[in-house]
Amino acid sequence: MSDTQAVTPLLELIGIRAGYGTIDVLHGVDLKVLPGTVYALLGPNGAGKTTTLGVASGQIHPQTGSVLLTGHEVNGVSPDRLARAGVCLIPEGRGIFPNLTVEENLRMCTYAGVSYREVQERAFTQFPRLRERRAQVAGTLSGGEQQMLAMSRALATDPAILMLDELSMGLAPIIVGELYEQVATLAHAGLSILIVEQFAREVLGVADEAAIMLHGRIQRTGPPAEIAEELTAAYLGIS
Ligand code: ATP
Repeated sequence: MSDTQAVTPLLELIGIRAGYGTIDVLHGVDLKVLPGTVYALLGPNGAGKTTTLGVASGQIHPQTGSVLLTGHEVNGVSPDRLARAGVCLIPEGRGIFPNLTVEENLRMCTYAGVSYREVQERAFTQFPRLRERRAQVAGTLSGGEQQMLAMSRALATDPAILMLDELSMGLAPIIVGELYEQVATLAHAGLSILIVEQFAREVLGVADEAAIMLHGRIQRTGPPAEIAEELTAAYLGIS
């Protein structure tokens, strides 16, 4: 996309300061996710990435700064209203129901108005392995299959922006690669995606824009290839 200035970001954070009680975590975060693109936010443990997603999904109210959804300020809007407006977060740990089967997990997300048949068809088309596992209790699926189920549940709500917290956590590289192929397909189909990762460089292969976060600040944003070069230095604490 050549003229990024002309495009209204799907999600924009401007000057976000936020934290927990008296603990300040984010010290002025700016971020833009353009429609149909993948934005990768990378950084070490404790940098503030999950907190950033909390602010973007309405779960954490910033002390200062603005959260904009398609150009409209949504500060103070509740997480469930944001969810209905198309903001969908898959949290670290995936947010599935471990004691329910794959089919029951999919059935639980038909409140968004999409029929169960369609939810199931989309899930099984996108992730054929879930069809094979349809009667299995979700807690006994492999980590990769659980992430596929979490993504299927998220997509059933027809989100405008999908936020993924550590998609790759605990998964073998080959599975991470497969999941990222799905992420790229979703972005090509027009979904905007914000992904937080601690280590997974695989995300840089599908991202349009990447950023490094350290100590509650975005230190650097740019094309994924450039960010890849700087990652090692960032993790080693070399500025
Ligand atoms: P991780 O990969 O460990 O989740 P992160 O970059 O996502 O790292 P955050 O989870 O946003 O980082 O945490 C940033 C800081 O905020 C850390 O110092 C953490 O200890 C602190 N923090 C996170 N959640 C809370 C909370 N509920 N109460 C108090 N402090 C918190």
